[in-house]
Amino acid sequence: MGYAFLARADSLVQTNRAHYDPVVKCPVCGATASYVNRILRCDCGWSLSWREYHATYQKKQLIGENIPPLVEVYIREFGAARDYYAKMRAIDNLLHRFHWELQNAPTRPLAVNFIDLRLWDVVRFLITLAYPPDDPEARRQYETWLANARKSGWYENELAEFENLPEATFESLLAEKDNAGS
Ligand SMILES: [Zn+2]
Repeated sequence: MGYAFLARADSLVQTNRAHYDPVVKCPVCGATASYVNRILRCDCGWSLSWREYHATYQKKQLIGENIPPLVEVYIREFGAARDYYAKMRAIDNLLHRFHWELQNAPTRPLAVNFIDLRLWDVVRFLITLAYPPDDPEARRQYETWLANARKSGWYENELAEFENLPEATFESLLAEKDNAGS
């Protein structure tokens, strides 16, 4: 899972650099392609119009100006992680981020760029990552995620539904996870 996210993180950084700068790596030789008159060209002979290039990543949840700084943290952390626990931490730290969180104006969960799920399925997924039940860091990440979801103002209905569940707590979701696993 961590390596799949790493590949996704790499392509998010590259696609956003291509989209905003535009800096595009040649898919044939890996060199940086030049961009002149809306055509991408590489010294090795590869070329593609910007329009065709753009069509390759449209509608794939890849574009967001704020995405690179969020996922670059993951690329660093996962790359430096030497054991299972550190790798899980890096994944956790990635999936609990929100778009525009660094600008203090959270919008959508970054996890939707990594896993194709609805909001509460994302929450359930986050909870089912492998933690000891009394892990304070896991709880802190989860509470931060919920605070950002509230602050975004995008999920009022979902949050109301969630908060009206009598035992909608971190512990009850963990218990649900244990039951599902047995
Ligand atoms: Zn090339």
